[in-house]
Amino acid sequence: MNLSRTTNPKIISVANQKGGVGKTTTTINLGAALARSGRRVLLIDLDPQGNASTGLGIELADRIETTFELLTGDALPSDAALPTSVEDLMIIPATTDLSSADINLMSNEKRSYMLHDALHQPDIDALDLDYILIDCPPSLNILTVNAMIASDAVVVPLQSEFFALEGLSQLMLTIRDIRQTANSALRIEGIVLTMYDKRNNLCQQVEVDARENLGDLVFRTVIPRNVRLSEAPSYALPIIDYDPNSKGSHAYLAFAEEIISREPNPKPRRAS
Ligand code: ADP
Ligand code: MG
Repeated sequence: MNLSRTTNPKIISVANQKGGVGKTTTTINLGAALARSGRRVLLIDLDPQGNASTGLGIELADRIETTFELLTGDALPSDAALPTSVEDLMIIPATTDLSSADINLMSNEKRSYMLHDALHQPDIDALDLDYILIDCPPSLNILTVNAMIASDAVVVPLQSEFFALEGLSQLMLTIRDIRQTANSALRIEGIVLTMYDKRNNLCQQVEVDARENLGDLVFRTVIPRNVRLSEAPSYALPIIDYDPNSKGSHAYLAFAEEIISREPNPKPRRAS
């Protein structure tokens, strides 16, 4: 029995190969809500577009040690992690370097395990984390494969719209493939419905279909469509600080509670 394991951070990939479904919004705001709920959280921006970094106000000039250096082994997690405006929420930022050919040039075996190796080195203990959330790019490329091999679990944001369920089977197959070949411990933490409009019949139908077909895999918490959520990144704030009383803020706090309620030994909140 490995007792030290219980203190390891839970690593969650936020993934869906479709763009614009709410991955980055969920990574930032779930991360901030977990931090506000007494957990210590590191976000990893794994999208070359760097939207999570921008949304938390990390200037390009400050992106010196980034996810790219983390992957190539040129930066330690504790050196690359930057503080954010939220206490106990840190981020390793991304730049377009991440899409560089260098990653594709690395030897085949090694290049899928770059993030795994970076996050499973002793240095990570220095950050004293409860959660690591990885904001994946909108594709099932080598970066997303790295995320899934490094992770304990995947959270899949699903936009509440007509074709939402269609892309899901490809994602599920990828997860199964990774489970069979590289990371047998990987589980689907759940599917979270995003941009939900309860007055819209189509949204309601997507929810009914998703719960019928996917059962308990669908989180109880549903993230509503809320314009405040789309405004917050331009103020470099997570929703809990940009508009604490908005529907979006309440939803992400509830989502954090749902994640926390699954902790095997829920620990007391950190005093802050
Ligand atoms: P992804 O990372 O999957 O590409 P984003 O999180 O960037 O998706 O979301 C795509 C767009 O939709 C962004 O402009 C974002 O601000 C907006 N958005 C995301 N979630 C919501 C929501 N619940 N309500 C309103 N707008 C949202
Ligand atoms: Mg994104």
